[in-house]
Amino acid sequence: MSEHGQDRRARITAALLTWYDQNRRDLPWREDPRPYEVWVSEIMAQQTRMDVVIPYFHRFLERFPTLGDLAAASVDDVLPLWAGLGYYSRAHHLHTAARRVVENHGGQIPDDLSGLLALPGIGPYTAGAILSIAFGQPVAAIDGNVKRVFARLENCREEQESVSFRNDVQVFVEALIPADRPGAFTQAMMELGALVCVPRVPRCDACPLQSDCLGFGSGQPETLPRRAPKAKPRKQAMTVLLVEDDRGRLLLHQRQQRLLQGMWVYHLVEGRLDRQAIDRELCRLGLTVRSVRSAGTARHVFSHLIWEMEGHYVRVASGRAPQEGVWVERPAWRSLALPAAVGGFTRWLDKEQNICGLAGDGSV
Ligand code: SF4
Repeated sequence: MSEHGQDRRARITAALLTWYDQNRRDLPWREDPRPYEVWVSEIMAQQTRMDVVIPYFHRFLERFPTLGDLAAASVDDVLPLWAGLGYYSRAHHLHTAARRVVENHGGQIPDDLSGLLALPGIGPYTAGAILSIAFGQPVAAIDGNVKRVFARLENCREEQESVSFRNDVQVFVEALIPADRPGAFTQAMMELGALVCVPRVPRCDACPLQSDCLGFGSGQPETLPRRAPKAKPRKQAMTVLLVEDDRGRLLLHQRQQRLLQGMWVYHLVEGRLDRQAIDRELCRLGLTVRSVRSAGTARHVFSHLIWEMEGHYVRVASGRAPQEGVWVERPAWRSLALPAAVGGFTRWLDKEQNICGLAGDGSV
């Protein structure tokens, strides 16, 4: 690297850290950045805004103050604390990884890259964040914020999914990390990306790096980073059956599929079911349909999939155990972690119960 390049990078690091010291947000895990807290916060913050994460983080740490507490819990204890955050595989991985740390590392979170990367749910970014923030190691942590700051600072026109972009950002960030404050540097980069070098309209006037920013000099930093065209999420028609028996119990399933794995949901069937198909489906479960009526429609967008849901409230005769799923009493049903994807139907059930007293009155 030329002397000029080294000077520029030293200036960027110094200006960034000074700005961070004066402008950083008070986040609950920043005061005493222990590995477990940093890990939980980083997993929760993936794809999720910080103001949303904070109350979830507090509740999670209150219920599972240590990694040992998390490992000792069942996944059914963990999922309700994740309900509403989305991307539930993160909670599954965190729980499984906590158990592995107890089994294989005596309860101590590994302080090396290979040990962390071997745990479920931890990729190079999260490993870099834990190593730099909690263990003070000069390891790069490159997330979307950091990629954006890099692309603009360097006026990099490569698509951010390309191998050369990934290599360039890695080399660039590694060259900036100061030996004495790697954790502060990691957080400063993320903070700048979250507060100043934001996606659509970067706040260049408030940026401590403006004089060294090639993207700002080019006049169009907001066009960076460039992205490869994204595949559109696929639409999937779904039928949601809100099945209730004469005793006011609801039929629920704990999902085995990767999407919403482990979450409790109503009886879901891919595709649209008409009245006859609903009767056949319930017959398959060994249940006798008394009546069916519409419970409205809802839509939920996952990252790769859009569920277009049509709901039906189905009253069935009691006395039979279903072939799939379990009967859950109404009060117990409310305490389960039903995902936001079917939240519209939960609200429908609540509303209908208030209006008609659905359970047990036979007046559907
Ligand atoms: Fe981002 Fe503007 Fe700062 Fe450059 S000057 S890093 S584009 S906020």
